[in-house]
Amino acid sequence: MKELSQLVRPNILKLKPYSCARDEFKGEASVYLDANENPRNDPYNRYPDPLQWAVKHRVAEVKHVDAKNILFGNGSDEPIDLVYRAFCEPGVDNVVAIAPTYGMYEVCADVNNVEYRAVLLKEGFQIDVDAMLAAVDDHTKVMWLCSPNNPTGNCLKDGDIEKLLKEFGGIVVIDEAYWDFCGRESYSQKLAKYPNMIVLQTFSKAWASASVRLGMAFASEEIIGILNKIKYPYNINKLTQDYALKILKNPDVIKNWAKETISLRSDLVYELKGFNFVEKIYPTDANFVLVKVTDANGLYAYLTECGIIVRNRHRVQLCGNCVRITIGTKEENEELIKALKKY
Ligand SMILES: *Cc1c(COP(=O)(O)O)cnc(C)c1O
Repeated sequence: MKELSQLVRPNILKLKPYSCARDEFKGEASVYLDANENPRNDPYNRYPDPLQWAVKHRVAEVKHVDAKNILFGNGSDEPIDLVYRAFCEPGVDNVVAIAPTYGMYEVCADVNNVEYRAVLLKEGFQIDVDAMLAAVDDHTKVMWLCSPNNPTGNCLKDGDIEKLLKEFGGIVVIDEAYWDFCGRESYSQKLAKYPNMIVLQTFSKAWASASVRLGMAFASEEIIGILNKIKYPYNINKLTQDYALKILKNPDVIKNWAKETISLRSDLVYELKGFNFVEKIYPTDANFVLVKVTDANGLYAYLTECGIIVRNRHRVQLCGNCVRITIGTKEENEELIKALKKY
């Protein structure tokens, strides 16, 4: 494993971050004349906590991690971009990723002019560990893993993930956006064992809060410190922080939603098995299911006519004639099945 100082871009390593008014004075006072805010329109007139400590302390309890090991972003998309900006020198460094997977890793690589090395998954959509390691060279800074993976739906094998964590010297990102639906231990519980690992989770899926844009990264204090240096000072606004505190009051509600989704997922898979145009239903640990059909384009067009939108993944590598179907409510799933019976 490489030292963090060898992995971080030199300009970021020596960067002196912007010091905002809320960084320079942190206590309680009665008169705030330090940030050129407007004293009217309480409570929206004040800049929010740049490090969102109240929300972090609450997430720390719910997720069983230390608050110092958390970074929040405007969705997970922000930490994905921050990882490139922190570790990858444009035009020089590269990253290795499983394929197919979530499209944002490649888009952010392109935006940052970083070479993206996609390595196809093997049978069962599992990691080709040897091919991943063979794709690594001296300029490979980051490896992207997603488990449960989008769009395939399956968890990656722990043995494979751990082999990459041990043998690759750089940063390994494990995107657990769908973790709540998989019933496994989160890699966020192994931060002490793997100091070069970053685990991503989000409020967009199981927490049913995609519109508020709140993503989480869990990593060592050193990595969090580097990402904090380059994020926008007030990247999480007050409305989002207040909302997060509210929804975090009831984590059991979210657990129950996930349980319900998992149960509806089995019902939907059972129903889908009955159609002769369904060729394969891939095993899923997420709130969606990847289904191979005889003609994905035709099915997609038909369902769209019916007012039901699924994701056509026909053009994705290894996903020819596949559609990705999100698990909806009981009623929505029934409407889908009703439409499919007439297809
Ligand atoms: C949906 C999804 C996310 C969530 O992104 P946000 O920016 O947090 O909404 C992250 N990773 C994967 C793999 C996803 O499918």
